[in-house]
Amino acid sequence: MRIDQFPKDMQPYLIPQPRGNMFYRCLKCGAEFDVRELLYTCVKCGGVLLLENRDVSHREIPGNIWRKIFDYRRMLNVQPLKGIFRYYEFTAPIIPLDQIVYLGEGHTPVVRANNRLRSMVGMDFYYKNDGLNPSASFKDRGMACALSYLQYLAGEKGLSDILAICASTGDTSASAALYSAYLRDIVKSAVLLPQGKVTPQQLSQPLGSGARVLEMPGVFDDCMKVVELLAEHYNVALLNSKNSWRILGQESFSFEVAQDFDYSVEDKVVVLPIGNAGNITAVMSGFLKFFEADVIDALPWIIGVQSDHADPVYRYYREETPGDRHFIPVDVRPSVAQAAMIGNPVSMPRVIELAEKYNGLAGGKRIHIVQVTEQEIMDSMIMANQNGNIACTQGGESLAGLQKAFNEGVVDSKMIGVLDSTAHMLKFATFQEKYFEDSFEPDFEVIPDPTLRNAPVELSVDNRGPSPQPGKPLKGKEMDQFVTHMAGKIASILNLTKK
Ligand SMILES: *Cc1c(COP(=O)(O)O)cnc(C)c1O
Ligand SMILES: [Zn+2]
Repeated sequence: MRIDQFPKDMQPYLIPQPRGNMFYRCLKCGAEFDVRELLYTCVKCGGVLLLENRDVSHREIPGNIWRKIFDYRRMLNVQPLKGIFRYYEFTAPIIPLDQIVYLGEGHTPVVRANNRLRSMVGMDFYYKNDGLNPSASFKDRGMACALSYLQYLAGEKGLSDILAICASTGDTSASAALYSAYLRDIVKSAVLLPQGKVTPQQLSQPLGSGARVLEMPGVFDDCMKVVELLAEHYNVALLNSKNSWRILGQESFSFEVAQDFDYSVEDKVVVLPIGNAGNITAVMSGFLKFFEADVIDALPWIIGVQSDHADPVYRYYREETPGDRHFIPVDVRPSVAQAAMIGNPVSMPRVIELAEKYNGLAGGKRIHIVQVTEQEIMDSMIMANQNGNIACTQGGESLAGLQKAFNEGVVDSKMIGVLDSTAHMLKFATFQEKYFEDSFEPDFEVIPDPTLRNAPVELSVDNRGPSPQPGKPLKGKEMDQFVTHMAGKIASILNLTKK
């Protein structure tokens, strides 16, 4: 719909102008820094940062008007506002619209689970398919924001040779490479991967986008240490979630969940896997922003899920008394939720601060962390997909987490789950293959459920007749015999009855 077709009183709100007074705040020492520099950590103490806005004038607009603005923007065909920047004023409102990079990210489908899955879990739930983002994971939400900011900064400072770098469990590099490729005149990208710890599909993505791909021994946590050192000593733009511009973009997940359910979230339970903890940071922060501006009038429940092979956040919160909690990084073991296989999440200080604020404002414990097994993750993923979803292993982890929270009485059947399937199933097809072929290495501790396995059936020609070959089709009677033979075999395998 064209802008002049909207109600007159709403038109001025729909296409925003840059505004806001943003700054970085250190979570450790409280220092504040100007956003005209790209910072990853506090210059004074090395603590992690979050981006904030001193200008809270958007809170003067009542919640019902905001809801209308977002609902009208959904109908508006203005490119920069079609993705995560539909929520411009709540995201990074210093970036001019013409600097915003939009590659089709955000506004991913929310799909209700079928009857069978709902009764299996014991409650109603939906999957939000973040695998339907352009590089097939939720990471595109954060990258769209970070690269829009980079483009804006490059314009302000006259830069045209930015080297963007990241360590990755696979999806960050796919996304960083994609967005950098779009801005290739100003940004080149290099990605650092733990050798053998990303799937072939994830490896093909940055290669296809033209990034420099570097593979090193070790796991993600080791790669992270290396890029952090590089970011400290060289002129590179770090695109890991330590970069707080990414967190801002990922908040759009929460804004969308609110809008997807007509801003009624008091009975919702948002479930997501935790790796580096950037996503749960963003999800909490997003709901808090909407709550503080009266866009939503309650805070939903949030369940963070970790595999028992990589569970530092779960271990931290297992201690009920806040004063007795100590964060201890863990050594990860092989996990099918490979994108979340992280022992020392960089966003832990953000989680600690925001979870406390969240629970405080909600007036009770709304953030829960549950632990699941590798077996539960794989079974849940296969089960989800055999019921019409497209869940990756981490999406399976979300389902396993909801089931665990339900079984433990953390959530009940009056609530409605919203599960983040963080990537597309196809990126993690190798784990599905291991399940179907029963070929998991013992470290994974996964034994396939025979009723969930699947394999192609090879149809061979056993009547010694000829079969068609590429470039050598069968003709006439030979072809008739071949078709009859194959059809007969299939009818027998599928138990077909004659008409
Ligand atoms: C990155 C990633 C995660 C983990 O998110 P964090 O922000 O690191 O906690 C989970 N699932 C997928 C598919 C991912 O790519
Ligand atoms: Zn500091």
